[in-house]
Amino acid sequence: MANPRIPLFDLRMEDEDLAAAEAVLRAGHLAPGPRVAAFERAFAEHLGARHAVAIANCSAALHLAYLAVGVGPGDEVVVPSITFAATAAAAVYLGATPVFADSVSLHDIGIDPADVERRLTDRTRVVCAMHYAGYPAAVDALRELCDARGIALIEDAAHAPDTDLPGGRKAGTAGAAGCFSFFSNKVLAVGEGGLLCTDDDGVAERVRAARDGALDYRFDDLRAALVHARFGRMADDVARRRELTLRYRELLAGVDGVIVPYEAEDVARSSCYVMPLVLEDAARRDAVRERMREAHGVQTSLLYAAVHEFTAYAERYGVPSLPVAERVARSQVTVPLFGFMTHEQQDCVIAALQEALG
Ligand SMILES: *Cc1c(COP(=O)(O)O)cnc(C)c1O
Repeated sequence: MANPRIPLFDLRMEDEDLAAAEAVLRAGHLAPGPRVAAFERAFAEHLGARHAVAIANCSAALHLAYLAVGVGPGDEVVVPSITFAATAAAAVYLGATPVFADSVSLHDIGIDPADVERRLTDRTRVVCAMHYAGYPAAVDALRELCDARGIALIEDAAHAPDTDLPGGRKAGTAGAAGCFSFFSNKVLAVGEGGLLCTDDDGVAERVRAARDGALDYRFDDLRAALVHARFGRMADDVARRRELTLRYRELLAGVDGVIVPYEAEDVARSSCYVMPLVLEDAARRDAVRERMREAHGVQTSLLYAAVHEFTAYAERYGVPSLPVAERVARSQVTVPLFGFMTHEQQDCVIAALQEALG
């Protein structure tokens, strides 16, 4: 659909964003410099982390995180199957084997600590938790499993730049390192960008060295200035996303055939990156999405296909049975959500969904 009436995601640049970018361009300083350093300090402070290292993107940050905790050939990295492929691909870059774990349930799509425990071996080097749609994964239970065995916990916090974990910490700070994305459709969008946070001086040192040296995963001052300007409004944007998410939940209570993952009380802790739904009847999913698009101009997406079922992984590593992930992959639909979405647009999305399901 070339021009959806209601896009899945929309981005608006404010004058202060343009001014921040213009100042860098006029100064003629495009390389990594003071603006990268200033953004790293601001984001580290926001997270309450000792170190923040700005990186080319989150895929690169995951690669560096696994590298910095010592992942190498023959190691195993336990990852969720319902995630962006980079969570697993970063392990493959290092010659390690991704081991896929199931989601908890249709109401909590994050990685299931009980299933993770069954998949740990003496070759497991890392467990990676991804905070699905911005809702906190079960990091306390995972941390306990990992600490008892000397395994590093890494967080893929691409959806979660402002997610609160139990105990007042921010997502990204529960384990050895947290990885964030500033890709163009993320909560804090700048085009291409990422960041790794850690409290471990050694991890930070190895990540900085690899970023600037062998792997060349640098970030630059232009995007740092832009993301820093946008970061100043992130809390307001997330507050608005939470308000819209709660309103969606109320409206969806009257729609049959739809499961709404997570609970209303989880919303206040989430970055509300997207609005995920699960259809009770997976067989109708494609037709519902097509009807919403063609008849109502409402764009939807899937978050995500199950990575363990991708040909490239299935052929190399076999296909474990992950029933919850498989159900999610076949019946999940993501509907539009962005900070400046209007209530009228939301009402249109719900009406379109209801009509398509009816
Ligand atoms: C977007 C995303 C990534 C990759 O981020 P990039 O900055 O695009 O490399 C990794 N993991 C998850 C869960 C994502 O959504």
